[in-house]
Amino acid sequence: MPNVIPEMAVAGLLARENARFIQRNPKSAALAKAAEKNWLRGVPMHWMVDWGTPFPLFVDKAKGVDLTDADGNSYIDFCLGDTGAMFGHAPEPVAAALRACDGFTTMMPSSDAVIVGALLEERFKLPHWQVTTSASDANRAVIRWCRAITGRKKILVFNHCYHGAVDETFVTIDGVDPALIGEPRDLTAFTKVVEFNDVAALDAALAPGDVACVLAEPVMTNVGMVLPVQGFLEHLRGVTTRTGTLLIFDETHTMSSGPGGYSDEHGLGPDGLVLGKPIAGGIPAAVYGFSAPVSTRISACLKTRSPGHSGIGTTLAGSKIQLALMRVVLETYFTREAFAPLIALAKKLEKGLADSIYKHGLPWHVTRVGARVEFMCCPTAPRNGGEAAQVIHRPTDQAVHHYLLNRGVIITPFHNMMLICPATTGLHVNQMVETLDHCLTELLS
Ligand code: PMP
Repeated sequence: MPNVIPEMAVAGLLARENARFIQRNPKSAALAKAAEKNWLRGVPMHWMVDWGTPFPLFVDKAKGVDLTDADGNSYIDFCLGDTGAMFGHAPEPVAAALRACDGFTTMMPSSDAVIVGALLEERFKLPHWQVTTSASDANRAVIRWCRAITGRKKILVFNHCYHGAVDETFVTIDGVDPALIGEPRDLTAFTKVVEFNDVAALDAALAPGDVACVLAEPVMTNVGMVLPVQGFLEHLRGVTTRTGTLLIFDETHTMSSGPGGYSDEHGLGPDGLVLGKPIAGGIPAAVYGFSAPVSTRISACLKTRSPGHSGIGTTLAGSKIQLALMRVVLETYFTREAFAPLIALAKKLEKGLADSIYKHGLPWHVTRVGARVEFMCCPTAPRNGGEAAQVIHRPTDQAVHHYLLNRGVIITPFHNMMLICPATTGLHVNQMVETLDHCLTELLS
C-alpha cells in the first residue's frame, strides 16, 4: 500500500514553515510593508504574492544558480525565473554583452540581426523569424498571422494549457477559464479545446477545416508535466497538414530539451515556433519563426496592405540590445556541448528524487524533459491536462516549497518544476534531493 500524507501533517508543516519564514526574513517583511504604499498588492507584479509565503521574499542579488535575499539568506535556485534564467542568473557572457552594447533601441535593425537570424534557422530549422518582448506577445502575434493567412477565425489549444497572457488560450473544456480577469467576450466562440493525447477529439475538432492553428507545447509543462504518448505529436502533425491547419509549437519551456528545442530533437517539423523567456538571457525578448510556405503567405498578405499599422508588433521589439543578447545566448548556450552537462545533471536529479519518493513509499512520480524536472503527487504520469489539474494538491506543494525555501532551495511556485543551469553542480542537486527527503520524512512522521 502506498503511503499517504495526512492533511493534518501538511497543515502542521505549512504553519511551522510560515512561522520560520517570518522569523528568518525581517528585512523582507519591512520592505513588503513599505512597498504596500505604492504597489498594487505591495509588489511590482501582482502575482508575486501568489508564492503564498506570509509576505514576498525580496531579492538582493542573483548570479548563476545563487540567489541572495534582502536578509542575506542564500539559496540554490532551481526555479530560475520559471525559465527566464534557464542559463543562470546574469550569466557572464550575457552581462558582458549588455555592458558592451552601444545603443539599446533605435527602430532600426542592427548587424546582429543577420547573425541571429542565421543562428535561429540553423538551430531551430525554420527560415523566417520575428522578435517580440515576451512569449505572450509572440503567441498573440502568431495567432494573428495564422488567422490572417488562413482566413479562419478559430484556434485550437489543449485543455489546461498555458501560453502566457493570451486571452484566447484561457479556455478549458468546461468553458472560459474563470482565472481570466476582465474579459467581456465569449472566447469559446473562437477557441476549440481538446485534451492532450486525445486523437479522436483532435480529429473531430479539426475536421470542419475552420481552425487557423493549433497552438501547443509539445510537452505540457504548466500543469505539472504531461508527456505526449507515443505517436501523438506525429498524428498532430499529420492531421493539421491534412486539414490545412497550421501547427505552432510554443517551446518557451520545452527548449530545455536541447539546442533545437523539442521539435528539432524529435523531428516534428512545425509550421511555426515560439521561443520566449531565456532567449536573451533573461532580458525581455522572445522570437517566433515560420516555415517558408507560411512566410510566403504572410508576405503576400502584407502586399495587400498599406504600411503602418497592422496590430502586430511593438516598438521595443527587435531592438539592438535584444539582438546583441540573443546572439550571445544562441552562440554560447544553444549548442549540443552546452546542453549535455545540463541534461546529465537533470538525470541525476530525476533519479535522486525518484529514489527518495520510492524510499518513502509515496505514490508520486518524476518526469524530465531535457534539463527540466518535475515531481507530481500521483502514481502514474497524467495523460492530459484535465487529469494533471486534478492531481495538483496546492497545500502539499506549498508546504513542500516553503520547507525547501526556508532551507535555501527554491523551486517553481504553482507546481513542482526544477531547472538545471550551467552553474548548477552535483552538490546543488544533492542538496535539493536531501532537503526534499528530510521534508518527506517530516511529513510522514
Ligand atoms: N508560453 C509558455 C509555454 C509559458 O510557460 C509561458 C510563461 N510561463 C509563456 C508562454 C509566457 O511567457 P511570458 O510570461 O514571458 O510572456
